[in-house]
Amino acid sequence: MSWNERQRRMLAAMGVRLWSPAPSATAAAAAPAVPTAEAQAATAVLERPVETPVVPMRAPAPEAARAPAAPPVRPPAPTPAPARATTTIAAAARAQADALADPALVERAAAIATLAWGPLQDAVASCTACGLCESRKQTVFGVGHAQADWMIVGEAPGEQEDLQGEPFVGPAGQLLDQMLRAVGQSRRADSGEGREDDRAGDPSKRVFIANTLKCRPPRNRNPEPDELARCEPFLKRQLALVQPRLILVMGRFAVKQLLKSDEAIGKLRGRVHRYEGIPVIVTYHPAYLLRNMPDKAKAWEDLCLAKATADAA
Ligand code: URA
Repeated sequence: MSWNERQRRMLAAMGVRLWSPAPSATAAAAAPAVPTAEAQAATAVLERPVETPVVPMRAPAPEAARAPAAPPVRPPAPTPAPARATTTIAAAARAQADALADPALVERAAAIATLAWGPLQDAVASCTACGLCESRKQTVFGVGHAQADWMIVGEAPGEQEDLQGEPFVGPAGQLLDQMLRAVGQSRRADSGEGREDDRAGDPSKRVFIANTLKCRPPRNRNPEPDELARCEPFLKRQLALVQPRLILVMGRFAVKQLLKSDEAIGKLRGRVHRYEGIPVIVTYHPAYLLRNMPDKAKAWEDLCLAKATADAA
């Protein structure tokens, strides 16, 4: 199968069908039989809605990974976040510096950095480090294989994620699953049996998906810098334990958290960044792609880069 045909099929799997204007007789004679990838991307239009159903699930920790007793991680009382802080890198850096200046937060981060997978899940589930614990229905730890080659980092749980306790279960999650399927990856194990097990199946084909925030911000508002700073040790520990070969970061706040960059996604995508030595690919958030269909073709390019990078790692 030619590259163009493969790309066409992959894009179709992501919900993008390509349309090319009918060539005139002379242009048709002069044109190559198959349009270039660039030409396809430039004329991409979405022709069908996302329709994959998603099964609710939480990832239980395997017994073997659980330490007998989780060291208590006692967060200090949260400082109320400013009414509507501008989440700039400067604000995020200030929040991080404040956290670093607070010995209790430093101690908490150090304790989290020692946790095994099971105790880390417990620590997330019982976290009261910021005000989001008051409005959440439940925490959203993450889902997928605990030793996955690919780790996907999103932003924060929304309404459905808050209800179901799993990241990316709304329409954006359905698109994410389609995108992952197009590059041979999945959050689930192949077989029905053990599909909720975070050690089941092939870790080279199952991703682990986590968010920068483990709790839903009320009314899906933007995360506050203080909330991001207090939640950061959890994501750091997840990354340290999963040890992925590749991190795919989706969306502005996830990029801010991981790469400490305020640059637009459009400026950061298309090249390989690093987080503690691990290759990082930046791409658009699936919720953005649902509103900006033509950019799905760029997301496809990002996935191809992610796959090539993971395969070479
Ligand atoms: N958007 C995210 O970034 N994460 C989710 O879990 C859901 C929507």
